[in-house]
Amino acid sequence: MPGSTQSSWLQKLWDFLRKLFGSGDKPAPPSTPTPDPEPPANSRFIALDAGHGGDDTGAVNQAVGVNEKTINLAISQQLQRILDSRGHQILMTRRTDVFVPLGQRAELANTAGTEIFVSIHCNSAENAGAAGIETYHHPNSEMGQALATQVHHALIAAFPSHQNRGVKSANFQVLRETQMPACLVETEFISNNQQAQFLANPANQEKIARAIADGIKAYFQG
Ligand SMILES: [Zn+2]
Repeated sequence: MPGSTQSSWLQKLWDFLRKLFGSGDKPAPPSTPTPDPEPPANSRFIALDAGHGGDDTGAVNQAVGVNEKTINLAISQQLQRILDSRGHQILMTRRTDVFVPLGQRAELANTAGTEIFVSIHCNSAENAGAAGIETYHHPNSEMGQALATQVHHALIAAFPSHQNRGVKSANFQVLRETQMPACLVETEFISNNQQAQFLANPANQEKIARAIADGIKAYFQG
């Protein structure tokens, strides 16, 4: 076939030119086995603590039909997803609707050696009008204060219409017994009907989680 003669002649010319100019068709390097993906250099090990669970419902708003344990877990799961997508390693003190004693929550993080501990709660008060966001650290932890401050600022930036109740210190057991910088976020007042509806909204839960993740990022960059 005429075509085949011509193409074999062109092939010879091509081979000659390749030898002459050293066209880069070097054999591919032997494929090396791919190691397990290493966490990125800025990967952190973070404990997330969804407050309450199981028989311990936390605060309940019967009028709106929500309880604290469910909202805490939903926000924590969103936060886990966001932090995981940013390359961090996450320890959850609970993943489901189970009761975990406070001491065990701290112990889980201490044993695993997480770098920080972030506890998620909803606030509650007798005064049904009470509202706003506040973030706690242990009085003796400067790093805990730095973490609480960054997380709180990120939340206030994300929700400027919400009342800013400030960064506070308290001798809460999970803050006291954790050996790493720790903070506890009171995301809003579940005892306030308007805020309970805000907390129950999955879009708001995700926005809260994203703000906390941004605060964590700022803390590690600080
Ligand atoms: Zn709580």
